[in-house]
Amino acid sequence: MNKKYTAEPYRIKMVEPIFETTKEERIELLKNAGYNPFSLASKNVYIDLLTDSGTGSMSQEQWGHMMTADEAYAGSKSFYKLEGVVKNITGYKYFIPAHQGRGAEQIVLPQLVTKKGMYFISNIHFDTTRAHVELAGARAIDCVIDECFNIELDHPFKGNFDLVRLEELILEKGSENIGGIIMTITNNSAGGQPVSFANMKAVKEISHKYGITLLIDGARYAENAFFIKEREEGFKDLSILEISRKTFDLADIFLMSAKKDGLVNMGGIIAIKDDELLYKKCQTYIVPYEGFPTYGGLSGRDMEALAQGLMEALDMRYLRHRVDQIRFLGDMLKEAGVPIQYPIGGHAVFVDCGKMAPHIAYDQFPALSVVNELYLEAGIRGVEIGSLLLGRDPDTHKNLKSPIEFMRLTIPRRLYTYSHLEIVGQAVIEVYKRRNELKGYVFEYESPMLRHFTSTFKPNIKETK
Ligand SMILES: *Cc1c(COP(=O)(O)O)cnc(C)c1O
Repeated sequence: MNKKYTAEPYRIKMVEPIFETTKEERIELLKNAGYNPFSLASKNVYIDLLTDSGTGSMSQEQWGHMMTADEAYAGSKSFYKLEGVVKNITGYKYFIPAHQGRGAEQIVLPQLVTKKGMYFISNIHFDTTRAHVELAGARAIDCVIDECFNIELDHPFKGNFDLVRLEELILEKGSENIGGIIMTITNNSAGGQPVSFANMKAVKEISHKYGITLLIDGARYAENAFFIKEREEGFKDLSILEISRKTFDLADIFLMSAKKDGLVNMGGIIAIKDDELLYKKCQTYIVPYEGFPTYGGLSGRDMEALAQGLMEALDMRYLRHRVDQIRFLGDMLKEAGVPIQYPIGGHAVFVDCGKMAPHIAYDQFPALSVVNELYLEAGIRGVEIGSLLLGRDPDTHKNLKSPIEFMRLTIPRRLYTYSHLEIVGQAVIEVYKRRNELKGYVFEYESPMLRHFTSTFKPNIKETK
């Protein structure tokens, strides 16, 4: 049978109750949270779409293997099992576990910064990747295609590198000053948009030509392989594992937040193709920062769950359902006329709040306004990806204006059903209907760093523009 959306490829064996609150309660709860959804207790959230990072469900096999994990400090059998899986998927020679993606970044990136004034170039650096590039004393430059910022343009690989600009940047800065090229797949900050194999291959050729290290920041590499299989000429008969392997073959280093396509609640991966010296350096550094090289911040049971999760994430039935869930929500919003980003990406639906509430000034955070209204409407938690997240210019201290004002509705893996997503869709449509009444927000307390996490706000009662 030809189905429009794939049903869950699993039955539910264990359930976790979730609770609804009343609108009166939510008005009070949001006020007490300083109008910042990050400060809401999860028990007061009915459907939580804050992030897909570490929030998914594990399988019976994952839970089963956790019971038989080896918790030895050094050389645990769970480490060797995970190492085998990572080597099998990547084809790389060396593997070190880390507690999560940023743990892997803090070990590897400083090793690539060999002098002052170096740069990293990425399609778009993820926030923590950028932070670790800067903490290592280098600068992060983003180099994504222009189509990426045309929100409604339907382009199959909006996460792609701008190849012309990449080469220009290398020539301008000097190849000896580039610490590495980082391919982020899928391109998280661009809306979970994929990168084509052809584009990655061209990036590889450029990095090879100039002798620059090529890294994959591959938190969602399996989702990226799924889009290549679906959209790119010549890949439809290859398995996700085969496409992933071809992808890893291009690069020198693989860093992963396993909280995404590792299908676990905590974990990270460092894999190195063949650079023994780099591996040795990372092994030395991992000890004081993360832990002994055969656990790197993970318990034996974490490593068991990850070894299994990495395999499950390569399953086409799982991936098709995941992408279908996101498409289901996106299609529902699109049909109701709610402005969203196209094409619908791999882990979230992005609502274009700049277009939805153009009467709210960028420094009064239109997307925060929509996120808060959605919580009031139905107890659903989304997240602002816009000028609030972007922050202030470090020199002038002015609020920077983001080119995008998104509400991200991130779908955790294997956690919610289509019925939950239908409620989400209905609630967003209700908020959309009263979009002209939405008000902006002003700071009550503005935290000096990563302000979106802990600042508090009050609704702006004055007219905004
Ligand atoms: C989540 C993520 C990271 C950081 O990983 P954490 O596990 O959150 O530390 C790095 N890069 C990308 C692309 C990510 O999505």
